[in-house]
Amino acid sequence: MTDIQPLTLITPTAAMSAGVHGGRAKCLQRLVRLDMPVPMTVALSFDTVRSIAQGYMPDMNALLAPFGEQPFLSVRPSSLDPDWGGPSAVLNVGMNDARHARLSADIGVEAATAIYLRFVQSYAVHVARLDPDEFFLPDVADADSLKAMLDTYEFETDEPFPQDASVQLAEVLRSMARAWDGTTARLLRQAKGAPVDAGLGLVVQAMAMGVGQGECGSGVIEFVDATSGLPKIVGRYLSQSQGRETIRDAEGAMYLNRDDRGPSLEERCPDVFAQLLVFGDLARKKLREEMQIKFTIEHGVLRILDAIRVQRSSRATVRIAVALANDGIIPREEAVMRVEPAALSELLHRQVDPRAKRDLIVRGIAASPGASAGRIVLTAAEAQASAARGEPCVLVRRETTPEDIRGMHAAQAVLTMRGGVTSHAAVIGRGLGLPCVVGASDLSIDRKKGVISGPDGRKFTAGDVITVDGTTGQILAGEAPMHEAALDGAFQTLLEWADDYRDIGVRANADTPADAQAARNFAAEGIGLCRTEHMFFEGDRLGVMREMIFAEGSDDRRAVLDRLLPMQRDDFEALFTIMAGKNVCVRLFDPPLHEFLPSDKAGLRDLAEQLALPVPEVTERVNALTEYNPMLGMRGVRLGIAIPEIYDMQARAIFDAMVAVGKAGVDISVEIMIPLVSAMREVELVKTRVDGVANAVRAKSKTALNYRLGVMVETPRAALRAQDIAGHAEFLSFGTNDLTQMTYGLSRDDAGRFMSAYVQQGVYAEDPFHTLDVEGVGELVALGAERGRMGRKDVILSICGEHAGSRTAIAFCREHKFDYVSCSPFRVPVARLTAAQLAI
Ligand code: PEP
Ligand code: MG
Repeated sequence: MTDIQPLTLITPTAAMSAGVHGGRAKCLQRLVRLDMPVPMTVALSFDTVRSIAQGYMPDMNALLAPFGEQPFLSVRPSSLDPDWGGPSAVLNVGMNDARHARLSADIGVEAATAIYLRFVQSYAVHVARLDPDEFFLPDVADADSLKAMLDTYEFETDEPFPQDASVQLAEVLRSMARAWDGTTARLLRQAKGAPVDAGLGLVVQAMAMGVGQGECGSGVIEFVDATSGLPKIVGRYLSQSQGRETIRDAEGAMYLNRDDRGPSLEERCPDVFAQLLVFGDLARKKLREEMQIKFTIEHGVLRILDAIRVQRSSRATVRIAVALANDGIIPREEAVMRVEPAALSELLHRQVDPRAKRDLIVRGIAASPGASAGRIVLTAAEAQASAARGEPCVLVRRETTPEDIRGMHAAQAVLTMRGGVTSHAAVIGRGLGLPCVVGASDLSIDRKKGVISGPDGRKFTAGDVITVDGTTGQILAGEAPMHEAALDGAFQTLLEWADDYRDIGVRANADTPADAQAARNFAAEGIGLCRTEHMFFEGDRLGVMREMIFAEGSDDRRAVLDRLLPMQRDDFEALFTIMAGKNVCVRLFDPPLHEFLPSDKAGLRDLAEQLALPVPEVTERVNALTEYNPMLGMRGVRLGIAIPEIYDMQARAIFDAMVAVGKAGVDISVEIMIPLVSAMREVELVKTRVDGVANAVRAKSKTALNYRLGVMVETPRAALRAQDIAGHAEFLSFGTNDLTQMTYGLSRDDAGRFMSAYVQQGVYAEDPFHTLDVEGVGELVALGAERGRMGRKDVILSICGEHAGSRTAIAFCREHKFDYVSCSPFRVPVARLTAAQLAI
């Protein structure tokens, strides 16, 4: 037991804390300290409420003493964090026949009867837990309806409605204390981050009536727009009313300031309105937060009942934090700490270009904003496999269930036939910041055939590209042109502040000029991984690439590569120009060649035509390239050693592009990275050739070339041999996707099939492709970093696998003094903020 009093009268000096009495109680004390007219309030601590739930009641006489002879009370929950919810407030405790009679004389029979009816209803439903259908509020508040409701209560409970305020209060406290322990309440708050043993406090407050003679009523006021975060007076006031619930959308409720439509509180009670503005300003400055103030006007006199943090959108969260810091109310680092990094990602989404033509397939409910395109996949496992291949996908399901979460993580967007804005897909989609359209009921899905079709009968097969516009609810055929999201105003400021605290670099993985532009918009410090092979899948390049693969001997191959060279050079020129003044790390060709070859008959026929070869010969050569285990086969540096012309061409394209942009005045620092290294000699061989190409370009162009050569550590052996390797590499970038695959011996493409079972049964705490396995893969990374430093004191260290933007990976990299993390462009702002929060 603590030495805290079971009951604490809220006074400016009472010993109270949010950790003992809850946030609402502590906030009320702050309002009292600010001399706001708060009615008499007693706080019950978490321990007290816990013992009430177990059947012990505090001394009711002591509890009721501050409230006088005829107590008339409200009871509200007070958990540590108001977002954790809690039982509904119960108002008008102490209402009974005697008070009804007195109130009738004071405010009129009808008004008094209405209050009594509301109390009996709320007591019956929330306290006695009777059937709500038996206790609806009648249209007319008269003696008959009151008698009928009191009779129903007696009939249902075999007891007359309790008249004693202390009995009523004890029952209210007990029911609220027990409601907190209910399974649903527990699960809901735990989903919002509440610990298992989260406590509930209660506040018992003298009712401020809001009903009576003269100006009486209740209202709420906020001083900020909860969606935009911009200053604005918002709220409602309703004469002759009690409580927040009664004024929401109520007929006759008025706006607060005179600029709004209709009658306003400002006009009706200018003094009270002016007082509210003063209190609002005071609350903002002293409580250091944008607060919603709940008030009552009692016979023309203002009472402040409560204040809670304004519920706000992610955009508003950022604006408010920045405004509070700009006004000197909170320090900058606190503003940085106040924004949940995930909230940023929700705001940073691409949108379909508003001027683009839209090829509409079907419409659904816009459930999570932003737009993304990808190939259709119909199961979570396919989504994971697609992500592991680096192919964007859209997960299309009838509806999603918790088993689909891993698939949703892996997808760029989600589309469901069923569900509304609170369906599983919608909630999870928003949580992940994933564009999501739900309830597209005109869509049909044939899972067996792998086909979806829209209302006009058009069919789309798994693998076809569609665009999900989660902002408008439209599903479009193909990849719609997009507008990249860009940071503005408050975001920019918050992230600039974050950059002041952050002690680790953040770069972006960007393969195309569009990615690079997004990276730049999000103020990435450079590109940490440019997967050059993605450039070869575009347009007619695939055809040239195939010719290269089929070339007979190195002269033929070189001739085809000469045709690819200008295309690569153009890509690099565009990329370098966008990233002017920054570092760009270009990874040399990585995937197995057969990924560029067709796998079906039609594709083979096309290829045969293109190469002017008989189909059987093409088929045979495609088969000859097929590997049993391509991810461990002829890929990465192994290709670079076996077919060196490919890397020669890439090096040439990089250096030519450097020369070209240099002439245009673009300053760029280029890093060339060798993938899938497992032995020092591989690095030596590639380095010799790359340096040779550089020398040739230097000699021809008479230009200095500023580049570094480094290694991607993706195999366990590269981590173990990092000391030797670093002797030839100026930087080491840990590719934790492949490193995880090889450390676990777990296929990136196939793990989706059993990952759920593994995680559910606790074999792995998390999917290691999603969350960096600090204790296994992390150990190898740490060891590789340490050995790398032994080989080269100032070797540059980074992580560029999909894990890189996560809190776990950033914390890990900070701990091991890495230079930077490199993540997808959209995670850059999140990573910048996360890194700052970890450093503060
Ligand atoms: C990695 O393996 O971690 C990596 C970044 O490379 P890729 O995903 O292209 O294999
Ligand atoms: Mg890799």
